[in-house]
Amino acid sequence: MKIKNVNASHTPLYREAGFNLKNSKLTKETFSNELEHPHEPDNYIYSRYRNPTVVQVEKQLMKLEECNWALLVETGMAAIDVAVSVFQKGAKKRPWLFFNEIYGGTNSFIDSVLIKRRDLDIHRFFANNGSYDYVKLENILKEIKPEFLYFEAVSNPMLIVADVKQILDLAKKYETKIIVDNTFGTPFLWKPLADGADLVIHSATKYLSGHGNITAGVICGNDIELMKEAIEYRKWAGHFLSPDDAYRLGSQLKSFNLRFKQHCENAIVIANYLENHSKIENVLYPGLTSHPTNKEAVSLFKNKGFGGVITFDIKGDNEKDKREKCNIFIEAISEYIPLVPTLGEADTILLPVEPVWGAKYPLPGVIRLSIGIEETKVLQEIIEMGLSHL
Ligand SMILES: *Cc1c(COP(=O)(O)O)cnc(C)c1O
Repeated sequence: MKIKNVNASHTPLYREAGFNLKNSKLTKETFSNELEHPHEPDNYIYSRYRNPTVVQVEKQLMKLEECNWALLVETGMAAIDVAVSVFQKGAKKRPWLFFNEIYGGTNSFIDSVLIKRRDLDIHRFFANNGSYDYVKLENILKEIKPEFLYFEAVSNPMLIVADVKQILDLAKKYETKIIVDNTFGTPFLWKPLADGADLVIHSATKYLSGHGNITAGVICGNDIELMKEAIEYRKWAGHFLSPDDAYRLGSQLKSFNLRFKQHCENAIVIANYLENHSKIENVLYPGLTSHPTNKEAVSLFKNKGFGGVITFDIKGDNEKDKREKCNIFIEAISEYIPLVPTLGEADTILLPVEPVWGAKYPLPGVIRLSIGIEETKVLQEIIEMGLSHL
């Protein structure tokens, strides 16, 4: 027995694996329809192809990124796999160029999958002293003519903000496509597709879902040919978001703009407080005029905010002393601000940089704070209590 027409006012959670096709004359078209209208037809076939709950959330994401299509997958890493694999086609073999200042997992994906297993021609563009040299970037583009350029507008954990206009202009000049990981910037601060990027990916595990209770990823774009390639790859490589997690993401997305606004408002307050604290050595936050790329951040984010992540370090006599003080501080506040290796949650969480990034950022005593949406007064009291132990 099936329940019919219950007048649900929200997107129902469809846990089907396969759908009832009610059709004795199956055609080839039935099985290729989603390539033409991934967000429209209601002849669902099999959930790995398309699922109605997931499609509803994809529509929410299209509104948020103001784009023609959005495809959900199970993690941010899966979104990266889909986005780059779209370009892995045919005999033409132009190299791919990645900024080096990207999520550590993406760098590991490049090494372990793209280079080690797929044997692809990968190049990297490195930052110098906390910012990018765009003359150097132009020289690389001119020399290697990459198929695409992949970057993050806000890097992690140093929070370097890119001069996005220059990058997009250069990419256009050298006929290079652009993929942006917009996890840190989020569509609240910047919508890369409107400015000419070709694909945007997110780890929706972070700010978009915002409660640390699912993993998810999304690939967004405007170009329909890229969409068809992404759908094909998603389907046959088996990347897909479960309807349960899509359902949760859909509910939590409704508060995304409010949450992100609050993350930004809280972060600037805490960044200022830390910068003026006698026990703090240095604070990196793109909204502070002391940040090396504050100018880029002001121009890109147009005063909407500067994100929810702050990186800072505690004063110490030497490296050993800084490490010890960092540990004392983390322990003192761990009941209220726990050490959790993710970011973008409603609750404030922290991560020490040196043990996680290792050789890439051997920075003793440096802590990355992912600021939540709590009252800043309470947050400030907790941090003050932690610092009082030093
Ligand atoms: C977390 C993260 C990812 C990977 O996302 P998962 O959901 O953990 O797979 C990619 N890019 C950035 C910037 C991230 O912070």
